[in-house]
Amino acid sequence: MTLAETLIHLLPRGDSRRFGEVFLEHLEDGTLRARHRHDRMELEGLEELSSPQELREMAKWDTKGEYRPLKTAPNLISGWVTSCQDSSEFLKRLDAIYPGVFATWAAYEKGTHDPTPLRDTLDRQTGMYRFAGSITDQMANEIMRETCAKGCLRTIAWPISSECPTSRLKRPPQDIPVICTEACTFAVSEARRLVKEAYDKANPPSES
Ligand code: SF4
Repeated sequence: MTLAETLIHLLPRGDSRRFGEVFLEHLEDGTLRARHRHDRMELEGLEELSSPQELREMAKWDTKGEYRPLKTAPNLISGWVTSCQDSSEFLKRLDAIYPGVFATWAAYEKGTHDPTPLRDTLDRQTGMYRFAGSITDQMANEIMRETCAKGCLRTIAWPISSECPTSRLKRPPQDIPVICTEACTFAVSEARRLVKEAYDKANPPSES
């Protein structure tokens, strides 16, 4: 099954799904439509965006006009709609909003993509990030709580380490899940910051 076919399997005609902050519909006439979930009750007045390029540009900025470095941050702007009949084109448009997110879910659900434990990701870091791997479990939990849960829509699928048992995420019937299978650069840089902060606290500059 291609990715576009998987999308149609998860979003059959006459149905709708939540995909992060996006509300997806597959109308009875075959039209695939997406808009911000805040606009789900109202089509009137929405700006039609009819290409991946237009959607990518829209997703670059938040409501204050500031750049959105993390595309799954919960600050996608509303006021737009996109629709087309072709599922491959529709997938490209969703990818412009949430790059690679649908493919990640599809591979995870199929069992062909396993999450990378946080410690494996951190242990691979080099240069200024190489110390990030020495985080404690408490720091890892802080990253999940303060960086991920507060600033990102993704549901974490990775364990802290390969020894930690994790259960596979299940898809809620009305959702296409937005999941995280490997810690991103924001989490890695937060790990480094916490390690450095703990080191500096334990080794204050000597007074001479
Ligand atoms: S590590 Fe994953 S869940 Fe956490 S902020 Fe990055 S992308 Fe989001």
